[in-house]
Amino acid sequence: LIAGDGELRPTIFAEMSALAAHTGAINLGQGFPDDNAPADVLEAAREAIAAGLNQYPPGLGMPDLRAAIAEHQAHFYDLEVDPDTEVLVTAGATEALAATILALTQPGDRVVVFEPFYDAYGAVAALADTEFVTVPLRAPDFAPDLDALRDAVTDSTRLIIVNTPHNPTGAVFSDEVLTLIVELAHHHDAIIVTDEVYEHLTFGVPHRPVATLAGASDRTVSISSAGKTFSVTGWKIGWITARPELLRAITAVKQYLTYVNGGPFQPAVATGLRLPDSYFVGAAQSLESRCRLLSAGLEAAGFGVLSPRAGYFVIADAAPLGITDADTFCRELPARAGVAAVPVTAFVREGNRDQFRSLVRFAFCKQEGVLRTASERLAELR
Ligand code: PMP
Ligand code: GLN
Repeated sequence: LIAGDGELRPTIFAEMSALAAHTGAINLGQGFPDDNAPADVLEAAREAIAAGLNQYPPGLGMPDLRAAIAEHQAHFYDLEVDPDTEVLVTAGATEALAATILALTQPGDRVVVFEPFYDAYGAVAALADTEFVTVPLRAPDFAPDLDALRDAVTDSTRLIIVNTPHNPTGAVFSDEVLTLIVELAHHHDAIIVTDEVYEHLTFGVPHRPVATLAGASDRTVSISSAGKTFSVTGWKIGWITARPELLRAITAVKQYLTYVNGGPFQPAVATGLRLPDSYFVGAAQSLESRCRLLSAGLEAAGFGVLSPRAGYFVIADAAPLGITDADTFCRELPARAGVAAVPVTAFVREGNRDQFRSLVRFAFCKQEGVLRTASERLAELR
């Protein structure tokens, strides 16, 4: 394994954000919002800093944030978790994923993911020297191929990583798919790791945490983060809920990755998690309307739009514009049209890329005016 190469090459997000900055393009590549967090959340962070909460927080995270995470799981999903033994605060979902994979696998264990997949899964699976096996999601709805899933999960499978709502496709996995995942995990004694960072950003469909399925909670490590829900991607406050045995193993690794993180942001995220339901509903509705705005712009510009059901991103097929290589297209797009986007092949391993070659991921977590300008610029492509 050579750092800087293969699974550890520079991330597509850093690369495209640098290109956007260099060319002055509108950055619809990396997924981060351009609106600010709710005022109460920002105020809570300011207060925490002023009150001197600027030293190391406790290893598992501040008790009040752990309590707020447990309350959130009970309130939204009827899931009971013990804030003292079943909740760990992490440096974003990214550290949660890394600590989980490093803690729960041995070299050579199989890790199953759905492809396209968020890049960190492949990178950390490689650092942990595991066998990384992908199950394809197929356009237009990006539901997994169930036979491929059954074939992928074997007795050597240690982890099945489930990202729903899904980045980059915006798919929300059906109960049928989730039920099969739980069955396979039982049958092969695997652990399910869920990445639910877009849990509150679904468009008219409910989010179903895997841990709520019958028989799932004992073998599921649930991961989420404040970044997307509260528009604070730079704060890097994430969390894990899992049974105490699993959580202890993951905590043992986390303490040597960052030890602890985000002191004054922890109480602020606790404030966010306790906001009234209307906040969460409003955030999803606002994002859905911006999704519709950019989707309409992409259609008018000649792309084929694959409508997402959640998240920050819409996938557009550039084939109707005569583009067969979205990778090259995305590298040229900032200079050509003043818009940056990310090719879907960046989320797919070499060898599996054929069905994704002409697909481009655009972020719509931006102000309406920005999306309108981006749409006008893209319309010039034709
Ligand atoms: N998982 C997915 C699917 C993501 O899109 C992201 C990016 N926000 C992350 C994990 C990382 O989350 P965080 O910023 O909380 O580390
Ligand atoms: N999750 C964000 C995306 O998919 C960015 C994360 C990152 O920059 N690593 O665009």
